[in-house]
Amino acid sequence: MSKVYNWQLGREMLYPYEEKHPQWQFAFVFNTNRCIGCQTCTMACKSTWTFSRGQEYMWWNNVESKPYGGYPQNWDAKLLAMLEAENPRAQIWNSAKADGDGKPYGVFEGKTIFEAAEKRVGPEGFQGALGYLPTDAEWRHPNIHEDTATGGTWREGQFGGSTQLPEHRVWFFHLARICNHCTYPGCLESCPRQAIYKRPEDGIVLIDQERCRGYRKCVEGCPYKKAMYRGTTRTSEKCVGCFPRIEGKDDTLSHEGAPLETRCMSACVGKIRLQGLVQIGTDGTWTHDPANPLYFLIRERKVALPLYPQFGTEPNGYYIPPRWAPRGYLLQMFGPGVEHAIEQYSCPDRQLLAVLQLFRAQRHILFRYEIKEGPKIAEIPVTLPSGKVKVQELFNDTVLGFNKLGKEVVRITIEEPTFERSKEQHVNSI
Ligand code: SF4
Ligand code: SF4
Repeated sequence: MSKVYNWQLGREMLYPYEEKHPQWQFAFVFNTNRCIGCQTCTMACKSTWTFSRGQEYMWWNNVESKPYGGYPQNWDAKLLAMLEAENPRAQIWNSAKADGDGKPYGVFEGKTIFEAAEKRVGPEGFQGALGYLPTDAEWRHPNIHEDTATGGTWREGQFGGSTQLPEHRVWFFHLARICNHCTYPGCLESCPRQAIYKRPEDGIVLIDQERCRGYRKCVEGCPYKKAMYRGTTRTSEKCVGCFPRIEGKDDTLSHEGAPLETRCMSACVGKIRLQGLVQIGTDGTWTHDPANPLYFLIRERKVALPLYPQFGTEPNGYYIPPRWAPRGYLLQMFGPGVEHAIEQYSCPDRQLLAVLQLFRAQRHILFRYEIKEGPKIAEIPVTLPSGKVKVQELFNDTVLGFNKLGKEVVRITIEEPTFERSKEQHVNSI
């Protein structure tokens, strides 16, 4: 085991391979507050990559309704329970140790899936990551318990209780998921054939189909259950990050070779998704670049948080947490940054509001944004989760987005422009 630095945990952790980082890292932000669970993303992925025989149950992109939903069923609850059993009552965060960029959420003082596996010896010997292989039944229902609401206080007579923010009494939310193209992937670590690799140019994690022998160790070792076995080829497969699009090889949409967002991101109806590439130094630190929208949201403002950072894989998918769900639930899912993230999202300032407009505004990956200031258009009193009332000043700013080639590819205003068509020219345009 080597010692590697995991900035999400605010500390070094054990990992079987030496620390090594790509030049750029595939990353994304999903805004759970906006997801409507329409599954357009799911079908965009399915119709691109997993429509063949043997792939019927493969949903590289899925959208589950939390807290009951999950694909495979109970994937997260099962692993959290295993970690708790290995390290009882000690899976805790020390947020008092939060310190700038190196420890933005404090220090996780519990055990990751790699550390919790230290004493585990399976039938084939030492197991590098704590994990489990889902049963066939658990893979059977991709959208089990869809839109099923619950709540810690949901009992007879309490239905119809308050739906006032900061927390609704009856709640659920949609959690869209793809492979996180983790910095320290559990799938890669678990593969006895070394068939899984992380690309140095963009950090995308791929399974070499020539080397894979279908042992399913990656299925067991991925805490997010995003590596899946295909019976027809007897190999495992996973999200490929739509790498031809990331490489700028989609000639129809990008003649000049600029990188494009993946299919699931491009198709998102709710405009919850923003995907991109962030630059990484040789020591794993993110190159300071607040003009990159992802850097701004994740590192500068900390409004988007990693999913189950305590697993230890340093996932590169980040989520703006839902405002209405109980904080305890969100804390175990996104770590101690939840309150800060929700507070900011509830009443975004001028800059944050402008960057939020860039979600799913077009298909090119944005490497830089700029804001052109516009006039003040409104003042709105907003009650924050803490109960404080803040006056939000709204400005009709224009936000511009630039692709890798430095070309402007999006220009969008805060106030949506409306146009009135003349009734003489369009008597009945429907
Ligand atoms: S989410 Fe799972 S499959 Fe994807 S890189 Fe991380 S460990 Fe591997
Ligand atoms: S397309 Fe967007 S809004 Fe629809 S389910 Fe997927 S992530 Fe949610």
